[in-house]
Amino acid sequence: MALIVQKYGGTSVGSIDRIKNVALRVAKWSRAGHQLVIAKDIQPVPDPRELDVVASTGEQVTIGLLAMALKQLGLKAKSYTGHQVRVLTDSAFNKARIIEIEEKRIRADLDAGTIVLVAGFQGQDGLGNITTLGRGGSDTSAVALAAALRADECLIYTDVDGVYTTDPRIVPEARRLHTITFEEMLELASLGSKVLQIRSVEFAGKYRVRLRVLSSLSDAEQPLAVEANSGTLITYEEDTKMEQAIISGIAFSRDEAKITLTRVPDRPGIAYQILGPIAEANVDVDMIIQNTSVDGTTDFSFTVHRNEYAKAMDVLGAKVKGHVGAQSLVGDPKICKVSVVGIGMRSHVGIASLTFRTLSEEGINIQMISTSEIKISVVVEDKYMELAVRALHKAFGLEQAIA
Ligand code: ADP
Ligand code: MG
Repeated sequence: MALIVQKYGGTSVGSIDRIKNVALRVAKWSRAGHQLVIAKDIQPVPDPRELDVVASTGEQVTIGLLAMALKQLGLKAKSYTGHQVRVLTDSAFNKARIIEIEEKRIRADLDAGTIVLVAGFQGQDGLGNITTLGRGGSDTSAVALAAALRADECLIYTDVDGVYTTDPRIVPEARRLHTITFEEMLELASLGSKVLQIRSVEFAGKYRVRLRVLSSLSDAEQPLAVEANSGTLITYEEDTKMEQAIISGIAFSRDEAKITLTRVPDRPGIAYQILGPIAEANVDVDMIIQNTSVDGTTDFSFTVHRNEYAKAMDVLGAKVKGHVGAQSLVGDPKICKVSVVGIGMRSHVGIASLTFRTLSEEGINIQMISTSEIKISVVVEDKYMELAVRALHKAFGLEQAIA
């Protein structure tokens, strides 16, 4: 007998039929003797306190319905909201972070042979306010539950059958990965792959949660042994796989915008004078480029999340542009970031040059570049995003082998 946490995404519970299907699947695992904690997701609604109150209700409806469906199948099941379990979060409405999960109540139910259904995506802050965890937040609910309960495994059920070399909606030839290292998954998630929320991957790494992404749309009554080995397993050792590919995947994000201050007289402290007020306004900066020209002025460019673009432009216009003596302030929200990720980059050269050559052959101009040990990211005009992703996916040989 194992203790398993399972999470079903919004796509997996979108209709009564799908809820029934989830119930069949949960029943199968339960009848095989496993203890189960289920977290489920709805689409988040982005806004402050009252919206969190509203956004969290969809959750309650589905966990209640799922509990009823399980009882009809003759199983013991009990649903809980995040506040009932006590999923304690900070007070950042719409993007709260989980601080702690109380396990007492869940443990008692499990010991009594009951399947526990927990509303994902929601919690309660120290003052008793309802909070939600942001887009993809129930991935994090599930992993945090698994960590708190020291579960044997955490299964993330979704509408794809695993983690692919890139989003299969953009590249139909994308290939499912049987395993992916935790570090690569962390990069892919942080660079825009929406299949797992980045915080869930961080949590999994911190507590070494055994984490698997698999399909909720496959036949619910397929043999459990088949299902238990399906999908993609996130692994924590890197050198175990002989056939480790150099590149694991391509991520992309349309969520960014680029801002440039041109011809800023260059002197010590310029970066601070520009980015200090941005940080004070609580805007996160991603890529930064600065290069001083021979005439002693510099163009200073950086990217921010698109939601915070207007705020950043306001701050720069009001407090920074005149102060640092920039010639102009130019904003460009029509950009995207495309990233090539793989731990094989540590031991192989030529990945950057193949990336740049591929984009140049497609006539795509690179506006910014940033690299780390296991990734190369480029900023390009957003109308080229799909072309860039497809071309790179092909250039790195990531397609499915033709049978
Ligand atoms: P859920 O409602 O189950 O949380 P999401 O929409 O959040 O589902 O996540 C699943 C989607 O993530 C897939 O339908 C797919 O389009 C997208 N996706 C993006 N990148 C990848 C990737 N590398 N592998 C698999 N799916 C991906
Ligand atoms: Mg999701």
